[in-house]
Amino acid sequence: MNPNVDPKTLKITDIRFLDIDGAPKRCTIIKIMTNQGIEGYGEVRDASSKTYAAMLKSRIVGLNPCNVDYIFHKIKQFGFHSRQGGGVSGIEIALLDLAGKAWGVPVWQLLGGKFRDKVRVYCDTDVDGKHTGHDMGMALKKRMEMGFTMLKMDLGIGLLMDIPGAICAPLGFIDDMKKYAPHILNVQGGSVTADMVNHKNSYDIVNTAHPFTGIHITEIGLDYLENYVKEVREVIGYDVPLAIDHFGHVCVEDAILFARRMEKYRLAWIEDMVPWQMTKQWQRLKQSCCIPVCTGEDIYLKEDFKNIIENDCVSVIHPDILTCGGAMELKKIADIADENGVAVAVHMAESPIGCLAAAHCAAAMHNVLAVEFHSVDVPWWKDMVKMADGKPIMENGYLNVPDAPGLGIESLNEEVLKAHINPNIPGYFEPTDEWNVEFSNDRLWS
Ligand SMILES: [Mg+2]
Repeated sequence: MNPNVDPKTLKITDIRFLDIDGAPKRCTIIKIMTNQGIEGYGEVRDASSKTYAAMLKSRIVGLNPCNVDYIFHKIKQFGFHSRQGGGVSGIEIALLDLAGKAWGVPVWQLLGGKFRDKVRVYCDTDVDGKHTGHDMGMALKKRMEMGFTMLKMDLGIGLLMDIPGAICAPLGFIDDMKKYAPHILNVQGGSVTADMVNHKNSYDIVNTAHPFTGIHITEIGLDYLENYVKEVREVIGYDVPLAIDHFGHVCVEDAILFARRMEKYRLAWIEDMVPWQMTKQWQRLKQSCCIPVCTGEDIYLKEDFKNIIENDCVSVIHPDILTCGGAMELKKIADIADENGVAVAVHMAESPIGCLAAAHCAAAMHNVLAVEFHSVDVPWWKDMVKMADGKPIMENGYLNVPDAPGLGIESLNEEVLKAHINPNIPGYFEPTDEWNVEFSNDRLWS
């Protein structure tokens, strides 16, 4: 136990924020302050808004942060799917960090103890611009040489846009996509920004879900994608698991045609081929191919994971700790998956704070495959925090699981963080007094 802290009288006094850009995406770091000097760190999900956390300030100030589940039950009604889960989830992480620091135990211990001392990372890999499967294979091979033991790449209709006869779509639709929504053809390089969705034409295209675009892939297109993966496998071989993501918005029938072409390449999984809410389409996709299918990075709370798992929609779930409700909720989600023979790959495109939260939780899971990592090409990513044990956050393709209290962070690295503040959201943990008196009658029944 921390000799300078009395956990029984610990109280939340303030919550403040810092917006970072390029780590690899936009992210908001949360700092929860207390009456005894210790601070808890959390993070709002990438490409979200700190408002989702700030609006909860008046509901948590004055409470004991060690009562994590009590506070979670009080605020969880203010989260929702995807980025809207970012406020509740990020605060839950900061509370666990505080509870761990106050009682002197790491977050993994608060979650029930650990199954492993290090957690496998699976590594996202980008190749910019027009390129071949061989080029992607070479980029993936470099990741393997760095020690990564699982890989993921983007593969989808973005590659087919300039291939004659590869795509069939309502005439003019592809031209509109190229003009108004080029980012949905390849979004990995950065976050969706306000500019991208404030324009009506862009918003309408981005929000046209898979069954409604009318886009189909021809045999020429399927041949092209198959040859791309064949070239990738020729470079990296078959020993290493390879998942794919960001396929693009096509109907489930075309997703099945694609999946069947991929069977011989033994992919680790295909991800978000249709929106996660379309349960029956997921069942059909899963039953129509022999490739593991995966979704979940946009799902808030365990109930919707339970639905897709128990309805046999998925082989692998892909929760994000900063959307799903935080570490305790993720542990419950993993346990539901475990009971049903479903593996967990943890989605993670965040700062070291979100990453460490994922590492603690993954260490405490029975059925985890790996935690995602997007930031190999961001040299300052690891320098945003100073670890209490002095060890690297990630080493040879694995996350170290810290034994120090809380998340294991000794302090934030002010110099590095200040160098990467989002210019559109300036300020360094500024006061948030405007949220002090926010109030509504939050009871959900009368
Ligand atoms: Mg994804």
